[in-house]
Amino acid sequence: MPSYDLECQKCAKRFSVFCSISQKDYQACPYCGSDQITQRFTSVNIGGKSVGRDIGASGESYAPRPRFG
Ligand SMILES: [Zn+2]
Repeated sequence: MPSYDLECQKCAKRFSVFCSISQKDYQACPYCGSDQITQRFTSVNIGGKSVGRDIGASGESYAPRPRFG
């Protein structure tokens, strides 16, 4: 069963749940009980190999480039 990293939009707490994908959208925040939950896109194990990487809270995925001229 996969795990999902979720974040509460009400209290900004982050937590993980183990559930089927159909149940993922019906989770409630364990801290405040809000159902305004969004999924965080972090590392996810699919088929036993790690395919994700931590892109940080800002979602920034670009590596800094050296400047020309
Ligand atoms: Zn909450």
